[in-house]
Amino acid sequence: MKTNKLKFGTKAVHAGIEPDTATGSIMTPIYQTSTYVQDGIGDHKGYAYSRTHNPTRTPLQNALASLENGKHGLTFGSGLAAIDAVLKTLHPGDEVIAVNDLYGGTYRIFKTVFEKFGIKFLFADMRTMDQLDSLISDKTKLIWVETPTNPTLQVVDIAEVAKRTTGTDILLGVDNTFATPCLQNPLDLGADIVMHSVTKYLGGHSDVVMGALVVKDDDLAKELYALQNSCGAINGPFDHFLVLRGLKTLHLRMRQHCANGKAIVAFLSNHPKVEHINYPGLPSHPNHEVAKRQMRDFGGMISFTLKGNKLEDAQAVVKRVNVFTLAESLGGVESLIGHPATMTHASIPKEEREKSGVVDSLIRLSVGVEDAEDLINDLEQALA
Ligand SMILES: *Cc1c(COP(=O)(O)O)cnc(C)c1O
Repeated sequence: MKTNKLKFGTKAVHAGIEPDTATGSIMTPIYQTSTYVQDGIGDHKGYAYSRTHNPTRTPLQNALASLENGKHGLTFGSGLAAIDAVLKTLHPGDEVIAVNDLYGGTYRIFKTVFEKFGIKFLFADMRTMDQLDSLISDKTKLIWVETPTNPTLQVVDIAEVAKRTTGTDILLGVDNTFATPCLQNPLDLGADIVMHSVTKYLGGHSDVVMGALVVKDDDLAKELYALQNSCGAINGPFDHFLVLRGLKTLHLRMRQHCANGKAIVAFLSNHPKVEHINYPGLPSHPNHEVAKRQMRDFGGMISFTLKGNKLEDAQAVVKRVNVFTLAESLGGVESLIGHPATMTHASIPKEEREKSGVVDSLIRLSVGVEDAEDLINDLEQALA
């Protein structure tokens, strides 16, 4: 089905998928095979070896490209494996400027893996462009943006950053994990690469670890496909099947994540123990206007701090919840609660993380698709 003119929900259901030509199977079969018969040497149906191509992976890669309004999609063994592939396009001496509030694992792969290969990582507060402008040089080859950021929900103006990279040899990569293509399309705003931890909202059911990249440029795609094949960080066919299945309800799930997020923010806003709420949908959010412009809705991620900023208070709240589950990760149908300073962001030095707002009492919610009333009652008793 040609899906490029269709609306998002229709694309979520249909993009990339054709009924199986061998059997007519509506659902993409799980092609659990490593290799494929050749009629003569090199004479095959486009599939020679499953590290390179697999017929359960191809439709998902095409679906992701379509949902992000890109041309080429690539899946990887995890979100970090996708970032790893982007970084491998760089050379020793190149510089990367990244937003200073980052997923902890992204910070870790930058600093502990790629720095020793001679790539330099600089960090900028990108709520405004001043720091970024002072760091860009002719060594800059990649600008890495996460928006909204994890876990303080800072919003970066993607189009504004793209003004600095368009027409240069600097690539702009955007980690679109929190917003999903349902709420935000960075390629339309001038980014060169969109990255996803598919593990989160795209998979949507906390049952698979996967990453993805989507690009428009053919040469960049070629380079990334070569890295996908050369380095081999791929998932098996069953994982691709699970995500193909998850994607079909992405638009429905996001609608509920967003609605529940709004209801919980309204509850927290009136709670006497809550100090500050990070949520791009609040008019008091410093980049609310940018969020309104570049996102269709504000998502299901919320973080907040407690009055007094005590570690013990935050730990007590995350222990007392019943409907929310204390766990790392996010973006599944079930609501999760986390404590970034000691969980997802423990690999970032204390003074670094506090600079970007990851203080001791910060609590992060991944609001699921349950009934909002049950979620609010649960938070109410946990905060009491
Ligand atoms: C989880 C996450 C990643 C890493 O993805 P994995 O699939 O866990 O490797 C990267 N960025 C963000 C924003 C994430 O939430």
